[in-house]
Amino acid sequence: MTLPLWFDPEEMLIGGNWRRTPETLAVENPSDGSEMARIARGTPSEIDEAVTAAQVALEGQWGQLTAAERGRILMKMSGLVLARTEELVVIEAMDVGKPLSQARADVTALARYLEFYGGAADKVMGETIPYLNGYTAYTLREPHGVTAHIVPWNYPMQIIGRSVGAALAMGNAAVVKPAEEASLTALAFARIAEEAGMPAGALNIVPGLGEEAGAALSSHPGINHISFTGSVGVGQLIQAAAAANVVPVTLELGGKSPQLVFADADLERALPFLVNAGIQNAGQTCSAASRILVERSRYEEVLEKMAARYRALVVGPALADHNLGPLISGRQKQIVETYLSLASDLTIAAQGTIAGDAPATGHYVAPTLIGGGHGAHRLAQEEIFGPAQIVIPFEDEEEAVAIANGTDYGLVASVWSENGPRLMRLAKRLRAGQVFLNNYGAGGGVELPFGGIGKSGHGREKGFEALYGFSSLKTVAAWHG
Ligand code: NAD
Repeated sequence: MTLPLWFDPEEMLIGGNWRRTPETLAVENPSDGSEMARIARGTPSEIDEAVTAAQVALEGQWGQLTAAERGRILMKMSGLVLARTEELVVIEAMDVGKPLSQARADVTALARYLEFYGGAADKVMGETIPYLNGYTAYTLREPHGVTAHIVPWNYPMQIIGRSVGAALAMGNAAVVKPAEEASLTALAFARIAEEAGMPAGALNIVPGLGEEAGAALSSHPGINHISFTGSVGVGQLIQAAAAANVVPVTLELGGKSPQLVFADADLERALPFLVNAGIQNAGQTCSAASRILVERSRYEEVLEKMAARYRALVVGPALADHNLGPLISGRQKQIVETYLSLASDLTIAAQGTIAGDAPATGHYVAPTLIGGGHGAHRLAQEEIFGPAQIVIPFEDEEEAVAIANGTDYGLVASVWSENGPRLMRLAKRLRAGQVFLNNYGAGGGVELPFGGIGKSGHGREKGFEALYGFSSLKTVAAWHG
């Protein structure tokens, strides 16, 4: 199947103009390894032009719009995304290697982000503050100015929706650098913004390499805020670049998120969440539940029931819509296989199957359930970013918390138990930006503030909270006697 593109993928958007670059980058189809398109290779000079275009937009038509008018453009984009659902599903599936049904969920989420932030744009309010006699004091929420958005390849539509949607709702002008592995739906997003009447320069998209366009964007002195989603290593570079210009930065990094299953859990309800949160998007999800901690008395039972589900999992080409698609690249496959080779001192409880229709040139890894684990094992400490989960027994609540909190990360955690006080206690004790009780939402919940602690990053996106992150607070104290 050819990509259902309704635009030229080699063009990028700067200041309302669609432009090409002398050099381009290949777009690989991870399902079969073929080159299916080419995209622009933005350089520091295009990044510089995009930042200038964003600054001009803030001084011009975009900066003049009311909050309600900005919101209406985002709401219109939401409708246009839904109208383009079929194309967007296939483009994202082919570009990232997602099964069609998962790409469809991402399109729905993108439309919902635009709806949510479109509706919220004119509902962000300041406060009046009781102050000295003769004064009225109040606060204003103002846009930072030009916001930089550096996006990874695993959920391009969702991450652009949550971060650019919130930034534009608050009146910032955005420069987006999508991941070189998966830029196509970012370009589609820009086309849709244009169709919805987004003023020139409010949204600029410059595809390119991380160390070239990405580094130029994060270190550009014209940037007033950076939103980065990606790996810890690059996050550290981004934070250093932000420090040099003294600008705020939101870092959404990796995770090693646990689900804690106590003996009194409703296992039948828990099981689909335990497995799906590990294998969704072939495990290439920052909030993947890659550790399953189980109270010892039910450990064997949980392991076997999860194993039965693993044996039924099928991996294959994105468009065949199996349970899992390929990994994004040969490099990612190699990383995951190297991690899996570390399981030799543990037990491979079960593996899924690679479908017969999966081309040998695609980047397929069978989902792997690992038992016999312990909290200190490298597979229980490091982010694998592939379809593998490790199941670890614990004796009691204390040990469960110690293992759960015993990594460098703190993104998401969940607790499965019918004991109400325990649920409330652990919601407080678990080190994570999000805690789910008797459910698990890997990447779900447009309305729910999301972000990490520790090496999972800092700052919050999603929900109403993101609007505070994408704005700065000004205090006004007026003396009137
Ligand atoms: P990555 O860090 O390699 O790349 C992310 C983005 O940064 C890409 O656009 C890339 O081009 C750019 N980049 C790379 N080097 C750069 C540099 N020197 N300067 C500026 N930009 C640079 O990450 P990835 O492999 O694309 O994504 C996987 C990682 O992202 C995982 O660790 C995952 O956990 C994390 N992630 C986190 C969240 C979250 O919300 N917390 C969501 C998705 C992914």
